Order: sequence, then structure tokens, then C-alpha cells
Amino acid sequence: MSDKNKDLKKKLFSQKKNGWDQVKKTDIEAMESYCEDYKRFLNAGKTERLCAQQIITLAQKAGYVPYERGMALKTGDKVYLCNRGKSVLLAHLGKKPLDEGAQIAAAHIDSPRLDLKPNPLYEDGELAYFKTHYYGGLRKYQWPTIPLELHGVIAMKDGTVKEVNIGHDAGDPKLVITDLLPHLAAKQNEKSLSEGITGENLNVLIASTPVEDKELENRVKLNVLRMLNETYGITEKDFTRAEIEVVPAFKARDVGLDRAMIGSYGHDDRVCSYTSLAAMLKVENPVHTSCCLLVDKEEVGSNGATGMHSRFFENIVAELIALTNASYSDLILRRCLKNSKMLSSDVSAAFDPNYPEVNERKNSAFCGRGFTFNKYTGARGKSGCNDANAEYIAYLRKVMDDAGVFFQTSELGKVDQGGGGTIAYILANLNMEVIDCGVPVLNMHAPWEVVSKIDVYETCRGYEAFLRAEK
Ligand code: MN
Ligand code: MN
Repeated sequence: MSDKNKDLKKKLFSQKKNGWDQVKKTDIEAMESYCEDYKRFLNAGKTERLCAQQIITLAQKAGYVPYERGMALKTGDKVYLCNRGKSVLLAHLGKKPLDEGAQIAAAHIDSPRLDLKPNPLYEDGELAYFKTHYYGGLRKYQWPTIPLELHGVIAMKDGTVKEVNIGHDAGDPKLVITDLLPHLAAKQNEKSLSEGITGENLNVLIASTPVEDKELENRVKLNVLRMLNETYGITEKDFTRAEIEVVPAFKARDVGLDRAMIGSYGHDDRVCSYTSLAAMLKVENPVHTSCCLLVDKEEVGSNGATGMHSRFFENIVAELIALTNASYSDLILRRCLKNSKMLSSDVSAAFDPNYPEVNERKNSAFCGRGFTFNKYTGARGKSGCNDANAEYIAYLRKVMDDAGVFFQTSELGKVDQGGGGTIAYILANLNMEVIDCGVPVLNMHAPWEVVSKIDVYETCRGYEAFLRAEK
């Protein structure tokens, strides 16, 4: 190729670059320490409630105070509000008034898991089990034969809430769902992956010792209730006012000889939640009010008071306007929403060389190529998607380029291969600019998902640039 055409190619082709070729050596140390903090966040926040607690602790350390009705608010102030222990909004008041809109970084903190049924406990074959109902789109065959732990709450009649934690702390026992031995699995092996393990097979083994009285039936079950009664003061029917989640008992660890990736439960979507939060806590004196919105229930359709469909966000924006503008009106709220810009952050499917057939390489996210933008999600003919405006993408490209953030663009798999949704369209329906973006992940929704450290770090830098940006 002549030099002239080489130059032309360099000028005209889009360059897909490996992030490791682009990262500054001086950033590597910051990336490593950032990822250590992220791993701690993952290990301590295995449910949406625990995650919300972590977020509040970190926000308070960074000077955020709980929102209170009637409090005086001015430019530079930082407040947070937690909705029912399961979703959190942080706001940092900018120099411009709220009717000019906010910069919003949003993600979800719920992850696929198994919930205990309202009446979960039974005994069979002299073993005791908890029955579960899976939450979110998980592949059931991935959940047996791995160590599990329980987290949750039991709401007591007197208004107190007891926290349940079994299997998480050092020295705690683990729990497990059993599977067939290969010697007896010939029939099961003939079933499809989606049918081999059914929802009703996902019963968690919890105990095997009976109470002493040999005349009694259900002696192992009784022993379990005896132990739970001693520890938590509950009886069998109290499970109906509990929310107890079964999650993998793995810790977040580095992956690979080069330690360049992180394996963990719950990257979806705590990786975008943590990066959004970390960026939010870093930005001082933003031009526009910045918001970080970390919500629950995305994995089950975003419905309910703590999901993105809830009025929680609109209500708090209205409250903020009322506290900063004496002449509050609904018009100001509508203008604020219309003029806001949002990064709807969720994980993207990373190209997996083990399964290249589901992806189209030119439009796949790759681990190690940085922050990824998805112009649209959805299924089939983009059904159910938010399709970000070209003008908004142009704005974001400038923000990212000016900050030296390396990013890629992707879609979720080949056309008609499948698809997925996020919270993007919900806020876009309030008439603001929204795009899907986030971190590419391998093994999405598996008990142990994998991300690249450089993508995690670069995504956080991207959020930071966005929150600092002018409109
Ligand atoms: Mn997600
Ligand atoms: Mn998901």
C-alpha cells in the first residue's frame, strides 16, 4: 500500500483499539487501586439492600447528607435519599438552575438470584431444604453445585427489621443445591439446557440433623426451626414477612495470569452502579446539577416502588426544585426533565470467542476496549428499545474525546439472535436525552461474571466526564 493510501486509511477507517495500548502507564496504579475498592463493594453488597447501604456509607464519607423536607439547599450542596432501603438517589446541586436540566448517571443494583418462597421450609429424605423462586433471567443449570449464602431481612410485628446473613462471614457454613451424579443422569442429559434443571429443582440444602425425639415426624425441619427461633426469634409463618435472597458465596477475585479481569457475582449491574457512584463522588462543583440514580427491580422489569418505573425520581426532582426555587411550579419540573441528559448504564454482552456465532463482530463490545455505548437495545426490530438521538451521541462523543476516554459502540448480539432491555426508555419517556452505555461483561447473569479492569476504570472516567460536562 502506498503511503498516501495508508494515510487515507488511517484518516477514514474507524480504529478499533485495545485499551491496554492506550492506557497511560501512570493510570495503571490508579486503576488497580480503584478495582480493589470495587471488589470490596461487590463483596459487601450482595443484595440490593446491602448495596444501598454501601452506597450510603460511601456517599456520607464524601459529604452527602440525607435529604430532609424543608432543608435549605444551595449550589454545591450534596444530598441523598434512599427509597425503602432498596434504591438510592444522590444529587449534587450545580451552578445552573434546575430548569436547565440535570446530568444523570443511572444504573441498577438488583442482580439475578434465588428468593426464598413465602413458605420455603420442608424436610425430605431426612434432609431439610428451602424452596426458592428465581429472580431475573438466570440459567437454572448454573446454580446447582456451587457454594451459596443467604442474605435478607425479616420484618417483625413490632416494626423492627432483623437482618439475616448465613454463609457470608469467615468460618460460616455454606449452602448448596445438589445435582445428579453422571452415573444416574442419562435421562437428564437428554433434556435441553433450559429443561435439565427446573425452577422446582432449585431447592437449597440447609440441614441434616434431627431433634432427639425419635417418635416425631419432620425432626430435621423442627431442628432448623429451633435454630432459627434461637437466632432470630421467628416461627415458620414468619417467612411470609421476610425477604431472603440466595446468592453465590464466591468472593470477587482477579481473573487471569495477568490479573487484568475481575470475576464476581453481581457485576450486572453493580459494575455500572459503582462506576457511576465513584464518578459522582469525585465531581466537585458541577455546572449542572448532577444526579446518580441507583435503582432496584431492573431484572424483573423495573416495576414497583423501588424500580425505575416508580415516581420516586420525579418526586425527588420536584422536591429539589421546591427547595431551590421559591416559585416552584410543575412547569419547572417538566422543563428540568426535558433538559436533562442521562447515561442509562447497564452491562453489555462482551464478545466471547467461545460462542462467536451469537455476535456480529463489527458491532460487538469487546473486553478491554473500554466504555461501551449502545445506541439502542431491544429485540427483533429494536422492539422496546430507547434509540438514542444522533445529536445526543455527537454531544457524548465530544465529551468523551475531550476527556480522553476510550470507548466503543456495540449492540447486544446479532440481529434476531435475542435481545434485552434496560431502564433507558423509562426516563427517555419523560422527554430527556438518554443512551444505554456501560461495561462489557462475559458470562452475563451467571453466578460468577467477568469484566475487564480497564473497562471498569474507563467507564468511571466516562461518567465523570459526563457529570462535569456543560449541556
Ligand atoms: Mn443489567
Ligand atoms: Mn441483567
